[in-house]
Amino acid sequence: MAKKGRVFSGARPTGRQHLGNYLGAIQNYVALQDDYECVYCIVDIHALTTVEDTLDLKQNTYEMALDWLAAGIRPQETIMFIQSHVPEVMELHTLLSMVTPLGKLTDLPTFKEKIRQQPDNVNYGLVGYPVLMTADIVLYKTDVVPVGIDQAPHIEFAREIVRSFNYRYKTNALVEPQMKNTKILKVLGIDGKEKMGKSLNNHIELAATPEETKTRVLQMVTDPARIKRTDPGNPDVCNVFTMHKIFSPQDEVDMINVECRRAGIGCVDCKTRFAANLNKNLEPFRAKRAELDAKPDVVQDILNDGAKRARTIAQKTMTEVREAIQLP
Ligand code: SF4
Repeated sequence: MAKKGRVFSGARPTGRQHLGNYLGAIQNYVALQDDYECVYCIVDIHALTTVEDTLDLKQNTYEMALDWLAAGIRPQETIMFIQSHVPEVMELHTLLSMVTPLGKLTDLPTFKEKIRQQPDNVNYGLVGYPVLMTADIVLYKTDVVPVGIDQAPHIEFAREIVRSFNYRYKTNALVEPQMKNTKILKVLGIDGKEKMGKSLNNHIELAATPEETKTRVLQMVTDPARIKRTDPGNPDVCNVFTMHKIFSPQDEVDMINVECRRAGIGCVDCKTRFAANLNKNLEPFRAKRAELDAKPDVVQDILNDGAKRARTIAQKTMTEVREAIQLP
């Protein structure tokens, strides 16, 4: 079946992925493969804007690649690679920076937020981040970028940079990417309050063992108004119930929805059931991951092949870009 166009998306190498990563991004990456030619990039250079200690960078990249593949990224059709393995992106970043007003970059709320988060490390990379992101997207002649509502301004900015470039050099060498509005599921951590993330240590790793998973699930915060086992609960305010709705069979969800409200089921029982269902759901993922992890050379070959295919597209774009600028 003919594909609808080329999708690009990138993510920082954050190591082993968790349920929030899966529900918020990876499952969407997998689904997009059916309709689009997909280019998925592990953006290790972007990570350097905030990561100073690079000791874990290689391992984190490898672990993330394993998770993507185990979750269903199909490397025969999808280009999956590491950002720094296609150095053309750095060249395009430099060239795009010449048409990007500095004032606009320093005015971006995301830049201001980064200054607040890391006042002792306000590096140039932080300012140029949106330009590098634009280079990532347009280097591969991307038609569509899947984004949640809060990331839409980044893509709009990328489109502006592309227009400035094409206008200044009287060319159509760069393609303005379109946004594909995607409902990004916000998954709460085991604290039931904040978005699931490693930095808050409120996450559940996809690759955890069934026992580790159960331990984490049993730590999940439930309806705070339910103090005693005999208190009726409210599933509508309980993160465990939200997760049940994603991972448990419908009859079990219906049963909990009724029994929780009349204290017919206790939270420990409810969480134990969720842990069992989650582990069952993750079984095929974990089996595939273990299989891949036993052959790290195969994973490396996949990433090398992805970089080779990505580079073929990148080199073509860069030839057009250099010609448009009339670089000697
Ligand atoms: Fe949440 Fe389940 Fe406890 Fe109800 S019984 S409060 S849904 S954990």
